[in-house]
Amino acid sequence: MNVYDLHCHSHCSDGELSPAALVARAAGRGVRVLALSDHDSLAGLPEAQAAAREQWLTLVPAVEISVAYQKLEIHIVGLGIDPAAPALVAGLAAQQARRWRRAEAMAEKLGKDGVADLLPVLRARFPHAAPTRSHFAQLLVERGLVRDNERAFARYIGRKGSSYVPAEWATLADGVQWIRAAGGIPVLAHPGRYGLSGSGLEKLLDEFVAAGGQAMELSYPQLFPKEAQKMARSARKRGLWASQGSDFHSPAQSWTELGKMPPQPPEVITVWQARPELFPLPPTQEIPSTMLEPNTMAQEAQS
Ligand code: AMP
Ligand code: MN
Ligand code: MN
Ligand code: MN
Repeated sequence: MNVYDLHCHSHCSDGELSPAALVARAAGRGVRVLALSDHDSLAGLPEAQAAAREQWLTLVPAVEISVAYQKLEIHIVGLGIDPAAPALVAGLAAQQARRWRRAEAMAEKLGKDGVADLLPVLRARFPHAAPTRSHFAQLLVERGLVRDNERAFARYIGRKGSSYVPAEWATLADGVQWIRAAGGIPVLAHPGRYGLSGSGLEKLLDEFVAAGGQAMELSYPQLFPKEAQKMARSARKRGLWASQGSDFHSPAQSWTELGKMPPQPPEVITVWQARPELFPLPPTQEIPSTMLEPNTMAQEAQS
């Protein structure tokens, strides 16, 4: 189990749990420093922050930004961001608008594909969230049209699906710069999940660093040690720090759990080593002084 989990989702994007429930679950699993990184949204941070204070856990304000790179959608996690930073707030507002436009276009295409009226259901069913394709997938499963989210992507909304709508995300450079302008660390999320070849990933990393990127995830579910070690060499070569996260979305997904991820590959500098001020370990819970003085308590009990 890991003390640091720096990537997860609440119902403010496509996660299932409220921010408070997510924080409580993380604390119960032994996580002490948790970054909430909803897709293009900061909406869950105040609730998560309040819950973290009660649970003696450090909440690192974060976000996961979708950006366009060549023909791919790349995810950049921003760790330790200032949620009030104007450039970030404005950038994310534009991303949310793009999400709604894409959702409308997707609902229209799905309508022509025989799946009517998804948008009002989506609004009612996920009132806290800016729409993601995950939400569409869940509705398609609930309507009994496909067995699971994976099949919803394959049949309908994935790149090769019948109702696929390409997204118009911000550029890689913009996403990275919003995070830097907010004082955060731009982290390339799950680098093994983009289907890139070795040289393709090297090229992406070069562009990421040129844009101001500072770290990459080198530990997350289903990343095997061999691949992690190879990526760690690419990271070291560029002075990139290592981050890690479960990318937890829901207790129903048995393959992810808060705090559960492989160990970091050897010889990396982690983000919490590089920028300790952004990831302070919480104080251990103090025992109230009255409980340490049995005589006082006994006297009080008598009086
Ligand atoms: P969006 O950001 O709207 O494109 O939605 C992408 C989200 O859908 C990701 O963050 C994942 O949580 C989820 N997702 C992406 N691809 C798949 C897939 N093949 N099967 C199930 N979920 C997926
Ligand atoms: Mn997601
Ligand atoms: Mn992602
Ligand atoms: Mn994620």
